[in-house]
Amino acid sequence: MNAPVQMRKPKETGVPDNKKYLHPLLAKNYGNWKYHDRPRPGVLHHVSHSGDEVWSVRAGTQRQMDVYTIRTLCDIADKFAEGRVRFTIRSNIEFMVSEEKKVAPLIAELEKHGFPVGGTGNSVTMIAHTQGWLHCDIPGTDASGVVKALMDELVDEFKREEMPNRVHLSTSCCEINCGGQADIAIIVQHTKPPVINHDLVANVCERPAVVARCPVAAIRPAMVNGKPSLEIDESKCMCCGACYPPCPPMQINDPENSKLAIWVGGKNSNARGKPTFMKMVASGYPNNAPRWPEVSEAVKNIIRVYKEDARPWERMADWIDRIGWPRFFEKTGLPFTKYLIDDWRGSRYNLNASTHIRF
Ligand code: SF4
Ligand code: SF4
Repeated sequence: MNAPVQMRKPKETGVPDNKKYLHPLLAKNYGNWKYHDRPRPGVLHHVSHSGDEVWSVRAGTQRQMDVYTIRTLCDIADKFAEGRVRFTIRSNIEFMVSEEKKVAPLIAELEKHGFPVGGTGNSVTMIAHTQGWLHCDIPGTDASGVVKALMDELVDEFKREEMPNRVHLSTSCCEINCGGQADIAIIVQHTKPPVINHDLVANVCERPAVVARCPVAAIRPAMVNGKPSLEIDESKCMCCGACYPPCPPMQINDPENSKLAIWVGGKNSNARGKPTFMKMVASGYPNNAPRWPEVSEAVKNIIRVYKEDARPWERMADWIDRIGWPRFFEKTGLPFTKYLIDDWRGSRYNLNASTHIRF
């Protein structure tokens, strides 16, 4: 009789232990901090129960960095900090030092190389952005380019802590928005269904994969000019762009019809209030590389009105909840249409168009 087949056991590696990468004082005092404060914008000061102190200096980066920039930052860490860095979820870099006298020279060196110090407390934080052309297969714009153009305009608000509460910004290079929720988000908006290049479908497209990918079941196999291809029910298509990765002949990006929209009021955390979903408040801005002036003006306007009108500690969503959507549109001067702020009650009709969600 054959011996029973032994199944190979999966290797569960889990999350790697980060302690070996931490600054030694952070590893030593892990979970044992007495208090922290911010001596100035961009600097966090942690004091542990053991009496150790650590100053973390936070600087903005462009997130997608070339080797030269990374070497520059590492050289700064070796010469002006204590050889350790870490990145925050919003692509800021932090340098840790154990003596207060090292803080000022470190800041001077960072600013000499063009890295602004800030992003702490009630500031406009560095914009979190999605992968863009470098790493993803469906972007409709270069999210990191929008970030660079916008942060050049907002850098003073990054360096100060003068907002009512922190302002998280994000940009997403397709409507899938893997960037998550933000107080203000700039998201690509496709305004027409994909145009199918039928000559290519038979050669490069996995038809069952692309049919399955569509969230509203708008794609069907079809024969076109005697060759296997696809067809789209345009009355169902919501122009999401999800079909493009498994089938590049589903062309959805183009300079005329791929626009940018602005969403506001999202929050991932449950600090001070529950997490919230952002809602679209402006649309149809041109995808106008390399500086995106139209969308940049609109974002600066929303930030200016929020800064003037919100009460201390109100996040964007709290402020809008208090004043109401009609006042939000009045105060920002953004034109309101019935297609904006698709709230949960209204979205019932949209969601019922999905093959996955029914209620
Ligand atoms: S937002 Fe869309 S295109 Fe951009 S990285 Fe995420 S999934 Fe890819
Ligand atoms: S764009 Fe989205 S909704 Fe339209 S056909 Fe492609 S996957 Fe379906």
